[in-house]
Amino acid sequence: MQDLKLLANDNRGQRGLESGSSLEGWHEVTQGCILPSFEGDATGIALKKAEERTYSNHNSYTATVASWRVKKPVFNIDVCIDCQNCWVWCPDSSILSRDKQMLGIDYDHCKGCEVCVEVCPTNPKSLLMFSEYTPLDEALSQWPEKKKKEK
Ligand code: SF4
Ligand code: SF4
Repeated sequence: MQDLKLLANDNRGQRGLESGSSLEGWHEVTQGCILPSFEGDATGIALKKAEERTYSNHNSYTATVASWRVKKPVFNIDVCIDCQNCWVWCPDSSILSRDKQMLGIDYDHCKGCEVCVEVCPTNPKSLLMFSEYTPLDEALSQWPEKKKKEK
């Protein structure tokens, strides 16, 4: 399986959005204040891959919301047909895909909403929800068989 870290900057999901941390409130941000999403010159940034972008600490990419999740989607590459439905529908851009190949889940940003599982068309599904604490190999060992068509 491909190392998903290769698709990420070192600063992906480094900051937790926990309560009690000393973040500035909206009322402390003055008019005209700019919080840049990228460090330095961002010309052509949309054409760069995630691992090449210079994300600033104001960018949600550098934060993680993994602690919010109670269930997680698990990806089974053996069943996937690379249709990209999950990538299109994920509301948090947490499906990692490269060159139209589904590679896995960005667990730093996935919130466990289950939309990707709903839209996955394979039989059995290539994405299924498991408890956040289920190890991936254990989840994969419990994958259901293909369902037969009812006559
Ligand atoms: S569970 Fe929701 S947030 Fe997570 S990858 Fe699936 S669609 Fe995206
Ligand atoms: S929706 Fe399912 S089959 Fe399609 S790319 Fe995603 S995991 Fe693979």
